[in-house]
Amino acid sequence: MAEECNHNCSECSQNCESKGPQSFLEAPNELSKVKKVIGIVSGKGGVGKSIVTSLLAVIMQRRGYNTAILDADITGPSIPKAFGINQKVEGTDTALFPAKSKMGTQIISTNMLLENETDPVIWRGPVVAGVVKQFWKDVIWTDVDYMFVDMPPGTSDVPLTVFQSLPIDAIVIVSSPQKLVKMVVKKAVKMAEMMKISVLGIVENMSYFECPSCHEKHSIFGESHIEDFAKEENIESVSKIPISEKLSSACDKGMIELFEGDWLDNLADKIEKL
Ligand code: ADP
Repeated sequence: MAEECNHNCSECSQNCESKGPQSFLEAPNELSKVKKVIGIVSGKGGVGKSIVTSLLAVIMQRRGYNTAILDADITGPSIPKAFGINQKVEGTDTALFPAKSKMGTQIISTNMLLENETDPVIWRGPVVAGVVKQFWKDVIWTDVDYMFVDMPPGTSDVPLTVFQSLPIDAIVIVSSPQKLVKMVVKKAVKMAEMMKISVLGIVENMSYFECPSCHEKHSIFGESHIEDFAKEENIESVSKIPISEKLSSACDKGMIELFEGDWLDNLADKIEKL
């Protein structure tokens, strides 16, 4: 990829690997500027993909970068709630504007399009994929250093379209300690391999519970094998997030930006070096 890549292949004269007849990449809005795009992926829903997406954006914003979250988890959007954003999306005839969190993260999500946030999104795959593309093409993203994409869970047509349409620089995989999850995570790793996208790291969420009185760590969902798995798959960075009541209540209260914890600092260092 060219050093000064703005992900707008239609205007670029460089002959790089993102281009070519096979490219399904969508051009961003001409007023957008996004330097790096990182996809947050999980083999299945409910493992904490949205929490990890939110935490990474908060950490990088705290480090002084401009961050954005494109919530591509169209049928289970939970990002606006974690950041305490209730407003509807605003725009003109030709463009949409993301909401801004209290610390300045730019955010777009289907919840911001729905009349009631409890309305279900009953759309077929191509419509869902089309909305994600619109979030990339029609939204004006202003001077973003790091955009985090909360990918749709699984490895079906919707995540595949997102992978192909957005210029994803790298992905982070989120898992939980159960064995079954390992099998589905492997699918996500293989999908990234097939798309020739590098895996920056793996996050084991709900990895353990630390007793607040004696500080002993308990493996509620069974022993972790994440290090072995990462070694097998040549993934360098491993992070573990405990089951934390503080974390879930911060999400529920829309106060994720106030979280305390250094679980993802090693991963943030890797993102900084991208
Ligand atoms: P996904 O995006 O993978 O569907 P979410 O990030 O939305 O999963 O998390 C699912 C639910 O689990 C949320 O209610 C969230 O608050 C809770 N949760 C996730 N991770 C943790 C954690 N480490 N500790 C406590 N609750 C968590």
